[in-house]
Amino acid sequence: MESRASTTPMSIENRDHACPQCGETSAVTTSPYLHTFRYGSGESAVDLAIELPLRRCCACEFEFLDDEAERLEHEAICKHLGVLSPTEIERIRRRHGMTRAIFAQVTGLGEATLNRWENGIKIQTLANDRYLRLLALPLNMQMLKRFGSSAQTSSYSANLNVGKFPALSESDLVRHRQEQTSFALRLAA
Ligand SMILES: [Zn+2]
Repeated sequence: MESRASTTPMSIENRDHACPQCGETSAVTTSPYLHTFRYGSGESAVDLAIELPLRRCCACEFEFLDDEAERLEHEAICKHLGVLSPTEIERIRRRHGMTRAIFAQVTGLGEATLNRWENGIKIQTLANDRYLRLLALPLNMQMLKRFGSSAQTSSYSANLNVGKFPALSESDLVRHRQEQTSFALRLAA
């Protein structure tokens, strides 16, 4: 059996990778490329190193990186920050067999926000990251499902939009203000 030399490309790619230069679809090969980049600024800046798939077109010799490299770079940053990667977030949602819309409805997370996390456009805050990790547990998801129907959720959002506290009536608010006033007077005396 013939052993592969280290310079042998990782694979001869199929039609998925068209050369952006000449458009050739059957001549793109992939080989590993060590990429180092700086993440962050000031004292928290770090140098991260990752292996990326470098594409090379055998027809016109053009070399390029594509969205797979972008995805890997984003995952390296998530790993460095200690938060879930887009793939891991999507895996959690799919484990529950939920669409983004359903997942958003049950968890109270915004569907657009979820979309940004899963596509690597934005990285979730540490608090949301911890929340997502808890959501991976079926028991926690079952508990959330009990919290309320979509009707309640949308009425909560609607109330927030007009700037009222959904749980307090107008008279509650007046009473609250009066209590604050008398408390302030007592302090001054
Ligand atoms: Zn080409």
